[in-house]
Amino acid sequence: MQTRYRPAAPVALTFDDGPDPVWTPLVLDALASASASATFFVVAPRARRFPSLLSRMRDEGHGIGFHCTRHVRHSVATPEEIRADLESGLAMLEGSTRYWRTPWGLVVPATGKIAREHGLSLIGWTADTQDWRGDPAEKMLSRVEHGISPHAIVLMHDGLGPGATRDGCAQTLELIGPLVALARSRGLELAALDELPPPLPDRNPDFPALEAGVEGSRRV
Ligand SMILES: [Zn+2]
Repeated sequence: MQTRYRPAAPVALTFDDGPDPVWTPLVLDALASASASATFFVVAPRARRFPSLLSRMRDEGHGIGFHCTRHVRHSVATPEEIRADLESGLAMLEGSTRYWRTPWGLVVPATGKIAREHGLSLIGWTADTQDWRGDPAEKMLSRVEHGISPHAIVLMHDGLGPGATRDGCAQTLELIGPLVALARSRGLELAALDELPPPLPDRNPDFPALEAGVEGSRRV
């Protein structure tokens, strides 16, 4: 009997709102022990403050994207403010990045225009752990279980954003191992974003429209 070789389809774990001096090293440890690659969407002033964490991400094969300088919804920012936030943040990051995930995954027309001008791809997600809530890892795993499929982009956090209702990222740490095991049981492999084929989603899937329902969101 002949078995045709099929490479594992990639799944991307992504982490927003770091780097955090407490939680990011532990997330990196958990990824290393699971032999998993991921992508970190960093807050630029934090990246500047903790350059060794950025170096470690790069050294260990993870991707780095830009999240924000100030964690502001683009729906309440002017195009000039969005541009200034991006440009000042990119200047703080060591090295270049191709990816931009906006705060709350909110994208307005100006976001797309400014991203194109800077050669950046906007990145949303397909599966949301909602780890900012502080739920136990098992609950988060069941929340995203159906979405762990080829080319999924999973949203997690290695820092505490403005909407977080937890006081640390311990549950996220506990989720990494089981999530990686679940993906592998489905023949999937954890990869940085550049392993995923385009087109990638550019925004929060819960906010496909540009305006509706945005202001009440607590998502981080
Ligand atoms: Zn965020």
